[in-house]
Amino acid sequence: MTGALEDRVLAAVRAALPDAALPAPLHAPEFRGRDRDYVLDCIDTGWVSSVGSYVDRIERDLAAFTGIGHAVAVSNGTAALEVCFRLAGVEAGDEVLVPTLTFIATANAVTYRGAIPHFVDSEETTLGVDPIRLEAYLERIARLEDGVCRNCATGRPIRALVVMHVFGHPCDVEALAALAARWKLVLVEDAAEALGSRWRGRHMGGFGRLSALSFNGNKIVTTGGGGAVLTDDPALAKRAKHLTTTAKVPHRWAFDHDETGWNYRMPNLNAALGCAQLERLPDMLARKAVVAERYVRAFAGVEGVRMMTPREGASVNHWLNGLILDRPDRAARDRLLETLNDAGYQARPLWTLMHRLPMYADCPRDDLAVAGGLEDRVINLPSSAALAD
Ligand SMILES: *Cc1c(COP(=O)(O)O)cnc(C)c1O
Repeated sequence: MTGALEDRVLAAVRAALPDAALPAPLHAPEFRGRDRDYVLDCIDTGWVSSVGSYVDRIERDLAAFTGIGHAVAVSNGTAALEVCFRLAGVEAGDEVLVPTLTFIATANAVTYRGAIPHFVDSEETTLGVDPIRLEAYLERIARLEDGVCRNCATGRPIRALVVMHVFGHPCDVEALAALAARWKLVLVEDAAEALGSRWRGRHMGGFGRLSALSFNGNKIVTTGGGGAVLTDDPALAKRAKHLTTTAKVPHRWAFDHDETGWNYRMPNLNAALGCAQLERLPDMLARKAVVAERYVRAFAGVEGVRMMTPREGASVNHWLNGLILDRPDRAARDRLLETLNDAGYQARPLWTLMHRLPMYADCPRDDLAVAGGLEDRVINLPSSAALAD
């Protein structure tokens, strides 16, 4: 195809998606199956709030689906991350390595602990943290001292590394886990976008000591708002439950609390919706794969761009489809966004990189050239499962 890039891209999107799809939102929630029945069951029985059987059930269902030992349901994904960092031993004044290419929640949850995000670069293939660049960077700026990784410039401990699986694509998680072990960093996975994604058969979230899921309205499974902490460690799971339920000492009538906990539990009403949505997750994943495949076919001959595709060994949930320009070109990217949105296809750019935001501008960081280039190259295309129908 010839002509302007935005015309070629629009033609390919039109070829990939049925006309009936217009207007096509980026990612619409879908309510089918038992969604309504389970929510009404909460209302009919009066169990809408902090106690109820759907909370226990969604925790069991998540553990079963992911193959990770334990899941603790919480109020949202950001809260789940905050819990992860507390249980990872992140304290006020610590640093945590955070990809600059992520959604704001990853960095904010570090800040809620009184800790300092320390931004690191991403790689082109997965858009996740680059283990090779990170290793070289740590060799330059950090040293191991009595089993603690210390930032030589600031003198502060670097306690943890959080990685994120962008749009559901697994980052190079095995290499990053090995790096974390060498540098005595606790590995936390922000798996908010990765429910249903696997690396060599293992579900994402099972590689770090702790990980976080999100069930926000735009995620692949929604509870309206919600999240979960995943861990294979039963002691950590027990503590996550305790801390997120006000650290109340179990007793028939006494209200006794043994530390400063949170009220971060997921209400039963939200859990009920999540249980029904999880029943349909395999079907959602299959239909999302169809949408992704249509984009890959439609963009096969289009010059100047390519679809983001899973690397060998990755099984991807296709939460959001990513289109990548061959070269960083902010003006071309913005013309694409204009053209697609004008035509009724909701497309959007990457999140503004964390180190460019005013509250994080002074945080320590590596050279972030790769993420900087990707910011001017990547857009998301409409990705709802319903586009497969
Ligand atoms: C959605 C998301 C979260 C959590 O968001 P909540 O709205 O708090 O559930 C965290 N990290 C990433 C990368 C996300 O995409």
